[in-house]
Amino acid sequence: MTDPLAILKDTFGFDHFRGVQEEVIGRVLAGRSTLAVMPTGAGKSLCYQLPAVAREGTALVISPLIALMHDQIRSASAIGLRAASLTSADTDRERTIERFKAGELDLLYVAPERANMDSFRRLVSRVNLSLIAIDEAHCVSEWGHDFRPDYRQLRTLLDENLDVPRLALTATADRRTREDILAQLGVPEDGLVIAGFDRPNIRYHVRPRDGLNAQLKLLLASQTGAGIVYAPSRDKSERIAEQLSSTGRPSLAYHAGLDPSIRARNQSAFVASEEMVMAATVAFGMGIDKPDVRFVAHAGIPKSIESYYQETGRAGRDGDPAEAWLFWGAEDFARARTRIEQEVEPDRRPEERERLNALAAFVETAGCRRAILLKHFGEDTPEACGNCDNCIDPPKTIDATELARKLLSA
Ligand code: ADP
Ligand code: MG
Repeated sequence: MTDPLAILKDTFGFDHFRGVQEEVIGRVLAGRSTLAVMPTGAGKSLCYQLPAVAREGTALVISPLIALMHDQIRSASAIGLRAASLTSADTDRERTIERFKAGELDLLYVAPERANMDSFRRLVSRVNLSLIAIDEAHCVSEWGHDFRPDYRQLRTLLDENLDVPRLALTATADRRTREDILAQLGVPEDGLVIAGFDRPNIRYHVRPRDGLNAQLKLLLASQTGAGIVYAPSRDKSERIAEQLSSTGRPSLAYHAGLDPSIRARNQSAFVASEEMVMAATVAFGMGIDKPDVRFVAHAGIPKSIESYYQETGRAGRDGDPAEAWLFWGAEDFARARTRIEQEVEPDRRPEERERLNALAAFVETAGCRRAILLKHFGEDTPEACGNCDNCIDPPKTIDATELARKLLSA
């Protein structure tokens, strides 16, 4: 199977997953049924469109409105996906059925009414499905605000395709609605993924990088549990792994230059361990199902604030306290700026500059780091989170008058 991140870039033209997209897509690709609760605009469509490309067969998408389906088909077709719908508004239904049968569609959109028809279910039984996505899944629940009895009957189709992962998606689901959706659509309790950008159990720390090795050793002496150290290069990841191993802490390296069998072996050793440190490049992380990662450290700035959010977000998925450490030097930003001006296409430079500036603001602030991080994702927060280095131990600001007086009297 092709790397999801490569599909994200090549097919969809995005550099990063947003929020829980990575987690949801990782689950679907692993064949696990999921209910994703994500705010409007969070990017739910990608959660089934990307697996539709990555997995064999056609993704069946249940959607409540013809207008919604046609919007989706337009944008999916524009990026080269083979998408069609079967609705009363489509005049080429025969042709679509032929394409569906021939395995020529990545995505087929239908309304629940059609999905429930005997004839349609017979058709489905002859076709290889990659997944079944149920968009606007709150319609299945009487507790939700748009109850549609036809959604409830989807259970028959789903039960006839038990080996096909199902992905229910909604923006609006309180606890009761969520539980109802899980039960009605047969998604296991642990298949629930809820977005919202704050990760309150992650504590953010930022430090200047002087004496990085000494700092890493110190950090690891006090930090129990498994963790990831992101290194700026393949070489450095290997060197860090060696150095940590020599201090007695089990540590392995992971980067795209390693043999795939070694990568796979190191990854499973990490997933199985409660104390392993993975020294890695950004090639490591996507789709790794390890809820008890206790810390993520960056030995140098990440590519952008979004990468930072995503990479640190791999810590503490179990909800227990976790730490994010960022070690940086002024030269990191200088190098990143040079890269943008020299390697990025001119029309994308303003956006990349903006993202780098957001990261600089995060690094340099004397205020709450979480507030800056979440503001970038459009979330308002209290002024102080109480769980980042600056909130816990506010930096001493220099009193200019006091300083001036001292200088004058000296
Ligand atoms: P939702 O259904 O959750 O309301 P959509 O799937 O319609 O959201 O996506 C909202 C917008 O976000 C779309 O314009 C989509 O192209 C964009 N988008 C989705 N994922 C990403 C991503 N990883 N990076 C950048 N933009 C994204
Ligand atoms: Mg949507």
